Amino acid sequence: MADDRFHVYDTTLRDGAQQEGLNLTVADKLAIARHLDSLGVGFIEGGWPGANPKDTEFFRQARTELDLKHARLAAFGATRRAGVKAADDPLVAALRESGAPVVTLVAKSHDRHVELALRTTLEENLAMIRDTVSHLRAEGQRVFLDAEHFFDGYKSNPAYALEVVRTAAEAGADVIALCDTNGGMLPDELGEVVQEAARTSARVGIHCHDDTGCAVANTLAAVQAGATHVQGCANGYGERSGNANLFTVVANLQLKRGFDLVPTGALADMTRIAHAITEVTNVTPNSHAPYVGTSAFAHKAGLHASAIKVDPNLYQHIDPAEVGNDMRMLVSDMAGRASVELKGRELGYELTPDHTKALVDRVKDLESRGYTFEAADASFELLLRDTVHGRRKRHFEVESWRVIVERTKGGELVSEATVKVHAKGERIVATGEGNGPVNALDKAVRLALEQLYPELAKLELVDYKVRILEGTHGTDAITRVLVTSSDDRAEWSTVGVAENIIDASWQALEQAVTYGLLRAGRETL
Ligand SMILES: [Zn+2]
Repeated sequence: MADDRFHVYDTTLRDGAQQEGLNLTVADKLAIARHLDSLGVGFIEGGWPGANPKDTEFFRQARTELDLKHARLAAFGATRRAGVKAADDPLVAALRESGAPVVTLVAKSHDRHVELALRTTLEENLAMIRDTVSHLRAEGQRVFLDAEHFFDGYKSNPAYALEVVRTAAEAGADVIALCDTNGGMLPDELGEVVQEAARTSARVGIHCHDDTGCAVANTLAAVQAGATHVQGCANGYGERSGNANLFTVVANLQLKRGFDLVPTGALADMTRIAHAITEVTNVTPNSHAPYVGTSAFAHKAGLHASAIKVDPNLYQHIDPAEVGNDMRMLVSDMAGRASVELKGRELGYELTPDHTKALVDRVKDLESRGYTFEAADASFELLLRDTVHGRRKRHFEVESWRVIVERTKGGELVSEATVKVHAKGERIVATGEGNGPVNALDKAVRLALEQLYPELAKLELVDYKVRILEGTHGTDAITRVLVTSSDDRAEWSTVGVAENIIDASWQALEQAVTYGLLRAGRETL
């Protein structure tokens, strides 16, 4: 577990998930939590159990599915409602029952928000904080408090804003995170207010939004002013302009201010982790992101080129290797190496140096064409088996497939797919109908193969992600499809890449079925 003197607190799964267009499944959240844990963050806020069924489910699954090495999970929720006891409030009960060792309570600290939004008195708001914090503490949970709209509240009524901080600390909250909820602050002014709050006996933290483009700078100013707990989101995800980018904050504090926040080896893996998370969120990575962007250390050839050769440090602020980036390294190269070295071992394969080299070459080649294996473990394992065993026998061979989309007279869209496959010496033709072409193909291929492999009945397509990859050097854009499938025990993801979206989907589906058969113990034909 991380050192408690300084907290790196991630809120990607709660506040970051508010980003427009971001839609995380429970499996996505578990995957992101694993990545964040491998970076070595101290706390991962998983969501709001009780208020959001998906978040309740996340905490339930986290108990058995997450084996965190560094991080502790935090459940987010509000102080009790006005006029009831904390012990009787069902939302407080959901926090208690989440199984999370830490609860982060959000409370109003802006007098006008208390009166206008919460519609209660300033006194009752303090009582709600006092009662909820002490109740959860008595139940054995560690409590942090997010003081919402703290900085705007301080401008409106400084005495009340500070009273909220004092009340929470006296009731037993370990940290009071001061939130720039509207994201309107600038570093100098914010630093002064944090200093005032730190003069109370409370331990203060900081939670910033990037509406002025200063979320990271504000976070650093708060640390300078005495905050010992920083909140942020992976890749700066968050609503509006986003939250403070946790990766930038961690790299700045560790490399420029000498803080020892995450293990050195983990920091050197940060670029890979940042990109692996984008594969889960299906958000195109920002190539200009500080530290981890593919352009962050890329130099234009020309004037600088010869000088860079003599001494690269003349033109870069840190050695990019410290954060796992490179002066010009394709994500594919980096992902390829990490995938092969780490995942091969993880999957329990003994790879000879020849196999490793062959696999690295294949992964690099495929990733340069748009494939990704960070989020497609099953495709990677199939590739690995092919490399180790030579081109193995197939469970089935595809003769052809066809899919048509029809708009009926009534205006309804129907898709119909026909798949012709050979398996176990038989030729099978099957047709499937669906609400879209991929759904129809999926049904057709399962229908064809279920006759020979009944275990496929349990297989289910649970997630489908599409990303258009821009063409480079005059080539056309290509489509990447990630499919997540499950049987009754586990989930796995496969990837397909093609100019045509249906072709890309088909590749991912075919591998999904093949992997499902491998899991069911059908080694070969
Ligand atoms: Zn926020």
